[in-house]
Amino acid sequence: MASPSTTENLVVVGSGPAGYTAALYAARANLAPLLITGFQEGGIPGGQLMTTTHVENFPGFPQGILGPELMDRMKAQAVRWGTRLLEADANQLDLSQRPFTIQAQGQHLRSHALILATGARANRLHLPQEECFWSRGISACAVCDGATPQFRHEPLAVVGGGDSACEEAHALTKYGSHVHLIVRRNRLRASKAMADRVLANDQITLHWEHEIVALQGDDWLAAIELRHRPNGATTTLPVRGLFYAIGHTPNTGLIQGQLPLDGDGYLVPQRPGQPDTAVSGVFWAGDLADRRWRQAITAAATGCQAALAAEAWLTEQNLAVPVSRKTPEPEPAPTPPKVSPATEETYSPTALWQQGSYALRRLYHDSPDPLVVIYTAPGCGPCHVLKPQLRRVVEELAGRVHAVEINIEAEPHIAQQAGVSGTPTTQVFYNKELRQQWRGVKQRRMVRAVLEKVLSLGD
Ligand SMILES: Cc1cc2nc3c(=O)[nH]c(=O)nc-3n(C[C@H](O)[C@H](O)[C@H](O)COP(=O)(O)OP(=O)(O)OC[C@H]3O[C@@H](n4cnc5c(N)ncnc54)[C@H](O)[C@@H]3O)c2cc1C
Repeated sequence: MASPSTTENLVVVGSGPAGYTAALYAARANLAPLLITGFQEGGIPGGQLMTTTHVENFPGFPQGILGPELMDRMKAQAVRWGTRLLEADANQLDLSQRPFTIQAQGQHLRSHALILATGARANRLHLPQEECFWSRGISACAVCDGATPQFRHEPLAVVGGGDSACEEAHALTKYGSHVHLIVRRNRLRASKAMADRVLANDQITLHWEHEIVALQGDDWLAAIELRHRPNGATTTLPVRGLFYAIGHTPNTGLIQGQLPLDGDGYLVPQRPGQPDTAVSGVFWAGDLADRRWRQAITAAATGCQAALAAEAWLTEQNLAVPVSRKTPEPEPAPTPPKVSPATEETYSPTALWQQGSYALRRLYHDSPDPLVVIYTAPGCGPCHVLKPQLRRVVEELAGRVHAVEINIEAEPHIAQQAGVSGTPTTQVFYNKELRQQWRGVKQRRMVRAVLEKVLSLGD
């Protein structure tokens, strides 16, 4: 990481497709960009695709690819060419002075140029059980997820009353057996042409003045409970898919008051279709300024534009300090270690990281050291974020702690016994006692503090 007195050539804020693409181009231009990945503000490292399963429309993957895997690959490519990562949220930017200053969770950074790629988040209803059914029936992107097999020839619902909701309802009639459009008011906010299209489509039923109050299902959404707003009557509507089209919130809090935003908070580019903003040296990329397309490929494309524009600007201003490479070709990106579930033959009492219930049982009963158990699922984006963090801490503690990963899809009974209701869940055992448990992604320093506390109590 840069020392406090260093001024960076370029800082990229955000680690979605826009941020990683911008960083990749800037790194290949020898600008050694620093990318602030984000952590909890406005999403997780890797961005929105970390919350989805199959991405079928990103070119180059004819069989589709899991969202988290696509983002792991973008990250590896950006890092391979010299991007440095800071795993933190940017808390404050000051664009009024040059170099620009950035505060990121206690770190003070300065940079000649900036690329803002903080994305947008799809608004949610925050219903009980919404988390359980997210990507298991609920989606915020009909274009992305509508064609998945689980939705084919099944009843589907869209919630919202604007252009996006109407467009999505119309598009989903291609896949579902019938589409229900749930509208809070007694009219549509959509354009007349779009509204007429929906009203004329006998495959779409409108539920005027209704809101969703509950979700039902086991491992996949099976029904939604609707409440008629004027009289409070509730009905149950069987659907296998529910698509949110209730707007997006761009992550532009950082630049409020410093750059022009529109009425919904989207950054307004200085010139339509161009990557520059009202402050020279500050560029935008991705969904934070895109209220219309909001796709991974468009975010990546604008990331490329922003990096090329930033490079040209730094050169014009004579500000860039290019790094020199020892060899023109960087080392190949490391392939993530493949760990198979341990068996009687492969189990090792000294291995730092193992997989499966056999290793769990042996370490739990036989090892005198603290044991970290992480419950994961293959399509779980936050697991992709947490695992390398945990792994690094376990390695740093050099043999004083062991870790076991349980894939809850492969071994559901273990997750059930442990009372795990979602992934990632982490448990820390010591002397066969559960000392700590948490759900979701935590920063490395927090994980390390927990393990050090457990170790110090045991010493
Ligand atoms: C459920 C779902 C499924 C989707 N499926 C598809 C699909 O199949 N195909 C497709 O093309 N598109 C899909 N999309 C849309 C696609 O994910 C987005 O268009 C794309 O991710 C936008 O990229 P981005 O880089 O602009 O922003 P994001 O992906 O939103 O990334 C923004 C990044 O900024 C970071 N950030 C935010 N605030 C801060 C801060 N203060 N400091 C530092 N970092 C910060 C976040 O942590 C995140 O890493 C889907 C979206 C959703 C929600």
